[in-house]
Amino acid sequence: MSLGFRETFSKLWKMLPDKHEMIVAMILLCINSVIGIITPYLLKIAIDVHIASRNWNGLLTISLIYALLIVVQWISSSISSYLISKVGQEFGCFLRKRAFQHIARMRYHYFEEFRTGDLISRVINDTATVRDVFLEQLTALVGSILSISGSLVLMLKLSIRLTLAFMTTVPLMIIVTYKLVPRFMRAFKNVREKISDVTVRVQEAVAGAQEIQAFGREKDMIHEFQRVTRDELKAKITVARMFMLYMSLMQFIGGLSISILLAYGGYLVIGGWLTIGTLAAFMSYGTSFITPLRTIIRFYNSFQEAIVALDRVYEVLHVPIEEDRPDSVEVDKLRGEIIFEHVTFRYPNGIVALKDINLHVKPGEKIAIVGPSGAGKSTLVSLICKFYEPTEGRILVDGIDIRKIKLRSLRKNVGLVLQETYLFSGTVRDNIKMANPNATDEDVERVCKELGIHDYIMALPNGYDTEVGEGGIRLSAGQRQLIAIARAMLKDPPIIILDEALSNVDPGMENFIVRTIKRLLKGRTAIIIAHRFTSAMLADRIIVLDNGRIVEEGTHEELMRRKGMYYRLYMMQAGEVKAVATEK
Ligand code: ATP
Repeated sequence: MSLGFRETFSKLWKMLPDKHEMIVAMILLCINSVIGIITPYLLKIAIDVHIASRNWNGLLTISLIYALLIVVQWISSSISSYLISKVGQEFGCFLRKRAFQHIARMRYHYFEEFRTGDLISRVINDTATVRDVFLEQLTALVGSILSISGSLVLMLKLSIRLTLAFMTTVPLMIIVTYKLVPRFMRAFKNVREKISDVTVRVQEAVAGAQEIQAFGREKDMIHEFQRVTRDELKAKITVARMFMLYMSLMQFIGGLSISILLAYGGYLVIGGWLTIGTLAAFMSYGTSFITPLRTIIRFYNSFQEAIVALDRVYEVLHVPIEEDRPDSVEVDKLRGEIIFEHVTFRYPNGIVALKDINLHVKPGEKIAIVGPSGAGKSTLVSLICKFYEPTEGRILVDGIDIRKIKLRSLRKNVGLVLQETYLFSGTVRDNIKMANPNATDEDVERVCKELGIHDYIMALPNGYDTEVGEGGIRLSAGQRQLIAIARAMLKDPPIIILDEALSNVDPGMENFIVRTIKRLLKGRTAIIIAHRFTSAMLADRIIVLDNGRIVEEGTHEELMRRKGMYYRLYMMQAGEVKAVATEK
């Protein structure tokens, strides 16, 4: 998706937070350029009229007007520069905020399409490029266009012959530009991608620091980082080289024009066809034609880079966000009945993770889902939270198709306790409160007391005020899961989805967590992904999933008697425990 010139401008204009300040800045810039066009003409009058006739008073008047105009130009250029960088900074923040807001509401599965670092780079680096180019350079462009057209008009008025002589180099400039621009586009795209690669590596090195150190891969990571940084540097140097070549060619052609002007203009003056004042004014217009032309060219090149950056930001802004269907309804507190009717689900990559699932969970009933890895357990619960929608069939909650329930009100009724609980940097208390920012400290403590984990939290170094570290790094897996349980309890939803993480904890902690879970589940509908059979036993009914299908259903005793897949999985886990014990 590449935006055109006009489309880009109109989109950017619409997005500008303060159009008034921008308009004032533009007006000041125009004043600036108009003064730039008037002053050479004053020079001509001073030389041809007043110096030639030795009119001292006239010369003084012209000099004063000249000085006054320079003061006005100085003031207008200072104010406009300030306004442009102010609006530019505000626009940068605004664009970044828009991108971030969009990401926060982006449909869950689209996160899989971006690498985290690439998303970060789009929000931080690409928005900054768009800001710099569009505001700072775009406004310079407006002034330049005005200077060029004004200079051209006055040059034509002063001498058509000399103007035509001056313009003989313009086709050369067009050819050079035409030849080099496509290369610039490719080079800029490459630079944006390389910048993004660097961000991705930094993000991965931080996120995977433990694995990198555990596997002793620090050197490889450093080499890899050096490689992407080198590639980024190479890409930037390529752009700089091309730019330098381009600008120097332009400068050379510009210098050529001025020489032509001097030679031909001088010849006309000697021949008596032109006054010295006109030639002096022409020389000045020539420079004020060439300098803004360079600005335009510089802008044009940066503009290509900004279009690439803007495209990358737009790619993020165009990712579908989580939106309710127009006919969707609010629901209050649900009873917690869940029905799967012939639900089939296919991931965008074509993998069919669930096949014709039929399941009826009564309000308050607890269902455990067991099955081998990849059976579809996580997929099944993601559908209840509407992270994905069924490809076929439907899911009803309290008799309402969840497609028709407003997302926020559905999620208010569902508590999630995930295996990999992400904790945000802050204290234990902050993290529990995340479930309900309006909850008081007393609410948090009450909930923890009900769950029986209050004393446990108090025993942490700073009790509820213990810092958990980014991602909960300073807590154990079991402790993180306890916080997730407390979060869910504070939210107090009628439906709980629990992906237990007991495999990572010792037996003492396992019993403690199971007791806590029991308290959380009391009086609620629960779907438990049970990796350990201890948590499967918390359920009223166990569903066995295999390859996306429900293959068995019943209580623990019934399924053990049946000696089917559940029995085999159970024996396998028991066998593993035994094997490990005897190996010791
Ligand atoms: P585990 O116990 O190992 O977590 P699971 O029973 O929860 O496994 P799912 O994670 O639901 O299994 O995966 C079911 C199938 O869907 C697997 O074949 C998996 O490869 C595929 N799958 C899971 N997530 C995605 C995804 N985001 N995109 C594409 N395919 C996916």
